[in-house]
Order: sequence, then C-alpha cells, then structure tokens
Amino acid sequence: MRIDVITIFPAVFREFLGASLIGRAVAAGLLEVHVHDLREYTEDPHRSVDDEPYGGGGGMVMTAPPWLRAVRAVSGDGPQPHRILLSPQGERLDDARVRSLAGEERLMLLCGRYEAIDERVRMLVVDSEMSIGDYVLSGGEVPAMTVIEAVSRHIPGVVGRPESVENESFRSGLLDHPHYTRPRTVEGIEVPDVLRSGDHARIDVWRREQALEATRRKRPDLLAGDARGREVAPKASNRR
Ligand code: SAM
Repeated sequence: MRIDVITIFPAVFREFLGASLIGRAVAAGLLEVHVHDLREYTEDPHRSVDDEPYGGGGGMVMTAPPWLRAVRAVSGDGPQPHRILLSPQGERLDDARVRSLAGEERLMLLCGRYEAIDERVRMLVVDSEMSIGDYVLSGGEVPAMTVIEAVSRHIPGVVGRPESVENESFRSGLLDHPHYTRPRTVEGIEVPDVLRSGDHARIDVWRREQALEATRRKRPDLLAGDARGREVAPKASNRR
C-alpha cells in the first residue's frame, strides 16, 4: 500500500515512520509512505498557506490553491488515491473503517492546521472526511499517524503473527482478554492457574469468558441486550 501525507509539518513524521512495526514495514517495502510539504506548492515568496477568513472572526484559514496543486500533483495521472481530509467533523474512525481502508491501493491524508481549510478543498478534491474522536486537536498530523498505524496493522506481513491482529479487541465484537507474562507472582497477585495448565481447550474457554467480562465491564455498549436488558453477546453489528 502507498500512503501520501500532505502537511505543513513534514518533520514530525520522520521518527514515527522509522520506528517499530511501521519502520520495519517501510523497510520491507510492505508499506510506502511519502510525506509532502504543503509549502512546496505555494507560489508566493513567503510560502504562505493561510489567510484571513471571509466574514471575519478569529483564526486563519488555509487557502485552497496550494492544497489543490499539492493534491493533484501528488495524485498523479495513474490510479487515484482515496483522499481523506482529517477533520473533527468527519466520520469517526473505527475498526470496520480501518479494515476497509486497508483494502485500498493508495491513500492520501490531508492534515489541516489553523482554524480550517477553505471549504472548496473539501468540495473539489476530498473523497472522505475522517475524525479520530469527538475532540479538537491543533492539527491533522496525529490523526494521520493514527490512520497509518491502524491501517498498516492489517497489511499482510506487517504484524509478524497474523493471529495477534485477528484476536484483538473489536475483531469478534468483544474486547481482548487479559494477558499475563513472567514473573508468576506480582505483589501477591498470581497468574490464573488455567493459563499454566497446558489445557488449550480450557484456556480458550477462559479467554472467551474473560473477554466477555471485560467487555461487559468496560464497554457494555458493544454488547446486545436480552429481553431483560442484560448484555449477552456481541452485537451483530460489531462482529466481523
Ligand atoms: N475549526 C475546526 C472545527 O471546529 O471543526 C477545527 C480545526 S483544528 C484546530 C485544525 C485541524 O486539526 C483540522 O483541520 C484537522 O485536520 C485536525 N483535527 C483536529 N481535530 C481532529 C480530529 N478529532 N480528528 C481528525 N482531525 C482533527
């Protein structure tokens, strides 16, 4: 998969793209990420990308022409990327959306700054607006990294053990079960006996029960209720 990012702060991606799973995926050619400086697409000597808003009010607005030039130049003439404007007004990113994005050949992530981007950018060159949650950040760079990290986990070969991704929270409509490692005792708390039993059928049952319990306790909204309002199973809409 190829991902293009357009931002006025390309440097913030450098460490991120070299580290951990993403770094290895890039090095192995499983993921190609190109970060473009929006200011390279300005035509004035000050390389300015913002101006005062029509109608007055606080905050500067990112001007449309550099965005249109950048998006079109980076898209090129071949297969077009799915162009995503990171925005608190967008569709909320969730596991289902991440999986569908992972099936795209190319993504383009547009990172806004300041008060807003001129609305005509959205109208002319954006395929979808995407939010990482109902709060406002100062820029689209952290949301773009969120998309890159979440999507890349679903590219075959990026996560060494595919079952790690398959068993994660949300995949079955439930949260993940608790995990333990050495030492066996931590401040008086023992690892549950079943996990040391070697009985994989029992371990599977225990993990399923624990996943259900964790979901009930932390995210009851993921569970469908029975007639008496008790949650009994993952909602069908959460199962994939
Ligand atoms: N005035 C805008 C509003 O209220 O909808 C917020 C602009 S915000 C200060 C600047 C940029 O940060 C946005 O253009 C967007 O790219 C990014 N951003 C902020 N919060 C975000 C979120 N929750 N999800 C995705 N992008 C976000």
